[in-house]
Amino acid sequence: MKLSASAVVVGTLLSTLFSQTSFAWNQHQTLMPLILENSTPALKQTLFRSGSIPCGTDDQAIIRQLISSLQLNPQSRFHPTAPSTGKCGPTSQISALDVLVSSAVDDPDNGMDQNLSPAAESVFDPSGDRKWMGGVQGPSSQGFRHMYFGGWKVTQPLATFQIPARALGLAPQRTQLIAEKARELLKSGQVAWGARLTAWAIHYIQDLTQPFHSVQLVSLKLVPWYEMLTLHPSQGFQKLVQETTRIVTNYHWAYEGYTQDRLQMGNDSPFKECLSNPEKYATLKVKSAHPTPFELSHAVSQASIQLASTVGSSELDFFGGHLLETGVDFTADPNMINYKDYATRPDLLAARMQLHEVTCKALANASIASRLLIEWVFAP
Ligand SMILES: [Zn+2]
Repeated sequence: MKLSASAVVVGTLLSTLFSQTSFAWNQHQTLMPLILENSTPALKQTLFRSGSIPCGTDDQAIIRQLISSLQLNPQSRFHPTAPSTGKCGPTSQISALDVLVSSAVDDPDNGMDQNLSPAAESVFDPSGDRKWMGGVQGPSSQGFRHMYFGGWKVTQPLATFQIPARALGLAPQRTQLIAEKARELLKSGQVAWGARLTAWAIHYIQDLTQPFHSVQLVSLKLVPWYEMLTLHPSQGFQKLVQETTRIVTNYHWAYEGYTQDRLQMGNDSPFKECLSNPEKYATLKVKSAHPTPFELSHAVSQASIQLASTVGSSELDFFGGHLLETGVDFTADPNMINYKDYATRPDLLAARMQLHEVTCKALANASIASRLLIEWVFAP
């Protein structure tokens, strides 16, 4: 009895483990113009393909159909496909490129994957992954579709450490499903929605290029093991999980905040080249020239596992140990770090170079994966 009660406590605690966030690269839209800037002439040509912009009721009808076929939250709000000018109808054309650089790529973070049916065995979550990836309520409940932890591997015991040891998350399946839908829409001549769904699929694959979305713990250095030093092991474990969650969240948010701040510099961003000339920096390895979205997701996830511990250790060097300290909660004060200061401080030069180098690789992986995904969707 005592044992099963402890198991319930531990289970409940673990269900909150890493439930703090399920957003990656803050704004995917920032990445897209740079990713498409130097793409091949063939790809650029493909993206000039245009189609009419569906108006109000037509647009809503497509959204309703997608909510059903892609199992999306019917309560979530979808912005109209028509641009803010409101121009739509058969004579108003939009190119695939226009859609891909629009906010469409951030649609999946706006609620469509959140607050789905809570039953673990529901059609949405047949393996009950949400319990381990952000719960079933609130913004973090989308995590199971936006992350993929490939399972503990004896060959990489530290890099793949996770609880539970089995693979968790549906990001590869979602990428495949949505990319297939995009392809179907394009083949039926619905360019605007075909491109919008392509942007959605790109979102998921880009999420997986953020190492915090491909491993549960980017570094074991973020685990405050001293919390286990107590006379009451179950309390010690409880504290360990709570504190690890807080610390991982702090570093996750700080990493994305800093990267986003630097990306917003546009052409002056230290990461511009990583996105626009990714071949020089990418570590992504794909087995075929035209991987399926599912294969691509797994390759991306594997590449992120390789980068994760360097992201963790470089972040610790760069932001220091302050975010580890008891009571420090980045989510309660997202402005606690002055990124511009960190970006220029001379004493941080070596740590900054290290962090930029590994981030450049992750962003280059995002760029290559996004381009390959577009090629797969738009292939004749
Ligand atoms: Zn996401």
